[in-house]
Amino acid sequence: MKALVYHGNKDVRVEDVNQPQLKDELVKLKIDYCGICATDMEEYYYGPKYISHDTPHPISGKKTPLIVGHEATGTVVEVGKNVTDIIVGTRVVFNGILSCEECYFCDRGLTNQCPQAVIIAFGDDGAMAEYAVWKGSEVIPLPDNVTSIEAALAEPAAVAHHAVAKSNFSEGDSIAILGCGTVGLLALQIAKAKGAKVYAIDKRLESLKMARKLGANAVIDANLDMEKRKGQLMELTGGIGPDVVIDAAGGRDTPVEAVDLVRTGGTVVLVAVYTAKPEFDFNEIMFREVNVVGSLGYQRSDVESVVSLISQKKIKTDMLVSQIIGIDQVVDVGYGKMLSGSKDFFRILVSPSQ
Ligand SMILES: [Zn+2]
Ligand SMILES: [Zn+2]
Repeated sequence: MKALVYHGNKDVRVEDVNQPQLKDELVKLKIDYCGICATDMEEYYYGPKYISHDTPHPISGKKTPLIVGHEATGTVVEVGKNVTDIIVGTRVVFNGILSCEECYFCDRGLTNQCPQAVIIAFGDDGAMAEYAVWKGSEVIPLPDNVTSIEAALAEPAAVAHHAVAKSNFSEGDSIAILGCGTVGLLALQIAKAKGAKVYAIDKRLESLKMARKLGANAVIDANLDMEKRKGQLMELTGGIGPDVVIDAAGGRDTPVEAVDLVRTGGTVVLVAVYTAKPEFDFNEIMFREVNVVGSLGYQRSDVESVVSLISQKKIKTDMLVSQIIGIDQVVDVGYGKMLSGSKDFFRILVSPSQ
């Protein structure tokens, strides 16, 4: 079968590889769509950072070359002997973080922090391939009214869902979102669906347009200088500032800006991966009693929640699909576009058997 394989820094290749082997506790999926995400680009351009490269993953025993792709949806084509509750033909999404279920962190429900976790496409083969296998108990069936294209964004939506949940906001609170790429725009919709007032901040005109379409209460152009954008946000929030700021931009200065923008006693959620290390005055946090929380990945319940939100038509993930390509185009067109610096698109999906 064809698969996109990660070999090392700036080295991914579409290759013919063996189909993955079904084991008793696994299901085999024909992959319908797999998205290309900024994390893939990080790993391609700056990595290997998070992928098991020098030493094999302690649980899976796997290391590079590994198949890329962690944002996928597929149809079950074969079921292992020990999988009793999933039948052939079921369309599913992945819980792509397999935690050990017995450590200190798993015991406390922090499965995304499990030090033993096997993460799809980082500690084991991913799903940018015609077929993939995964633990039968860790795929989540899709309701009939959720299309496979909509479901292809369940993973970034789960990341956004986790971040919104981390903010602990109450209905009617205001949430400002810094950075309206795919995760930011999904967070916007989820926050909105859960009763928040949402303000979207970005430099890209396309993002602001999309934010408006997806229900933002107001949008703020990040090309304005800091005083102006802060002024707009203050005006929108009655001079108080937003209750929550989610940094989905991950810029050099955006976490500092997030703390500056949030109201006194408010919450900042960091859901981006940072490459820069800005200087920061912690008095900003102490004096105004700001809560700063990190949000890493997602838990199984986040995936289940977003599948349900898509099914109830409360979030529109398909509006963020900008292009669908075949696997032969993934490096030239997919990676090419993602690395081009052009930011006038959202998700590119790959249909691996196309
Ligand atoms: Zn991703
Ligand atoms: Zn664990």
